[in-house]
Amino acid sequence: MTSFLIDDLVAVDAGAITRALTIAEQREIRHVLITHTHMDHTASLPFLIENIFGVNTEPVSIYCTKRVLGAVRRHLFNNDTWPDFSRIPNSLYPSVRFQEIEPETPFTISGLPGGDLQVTAVPVNHIVPTTGLLLRQGSSSVIFTSDTGPTDRVWEIANQTDDLAALITECSFPNRLQEGADVSLHLSPDTLARELAKLTRRVPVYLYHLKPPYLDELRSELAAADLPHPVTELEQGATYDL
Ligand SMILES: [Zn+2]
Ligand SMILES: [Zn+2]
Repeated sequence: MTSFLIDDLVAVDAGAITRALTIAEQREIRHVLITHTHMDHTASLPFLIENIFGVNTEPVSIYCTKRVLGAVRRHLFNNDTWPDFSRIPNSLYPSVRFQEIEPETPFTISGLPGGDLQVTAVPVNHIVPTTGLLLRQGSSSVIFTSDTGPTDRVWEIANQTDDLAALITECSFPNRLQEGADVSLHLSPDTLARELAKLTRRVPVYLYHLKPPYLDELRSELAAADLPHPVTELEQGATYDL
């Protein structure tokens, strides 16, 4: 279940926001970036919106590309599975504002304590339309690839980003399940090694999305793997200052 929080105000994906944060912390969130519609990245979004309903006069902004946005509206806020909060309490003063973003077109989210956040969505290669994110604040950038199989553009952009401070990518399945990783467009330690060979910068690389049933197996395969860059598993609940 994937969620990150930047400066208390901006959530990146919404797999577990309502489980990870208190109601008061959830009410601080003003912006949510959604990389793709899979449930492990969106499941808590409807409950987040309900939990913060009526607290702020300004709506929460949800940013995603056109295809992701269509699916978010169709599946999560469709008045069947959950109310359409972009029309509640009414369409003039809604609780949620959907913001369509264009791939590789930077936009800025202001008002963060650490300074403006510049966001650039970069398409990756997953089984549903998905974008990674280049996130720049002050003089440092972080790339989050989101869920992806082997891909190129996000690594090219990482190599072009002079102020890159860290990169977060995935490793979902152990090597014995390579076929499953390939058809679902995820990485194994073997394909992660090939992806990391595309990265020419020496930056810390963090891993997320180790599938829970294979956690021990993945950890021992990663420890034994000959990776072009050292990797560190992201720790649940930890804060990273990059
Ligand atoms: Zn996914
Ligand atoms: Zn996922």
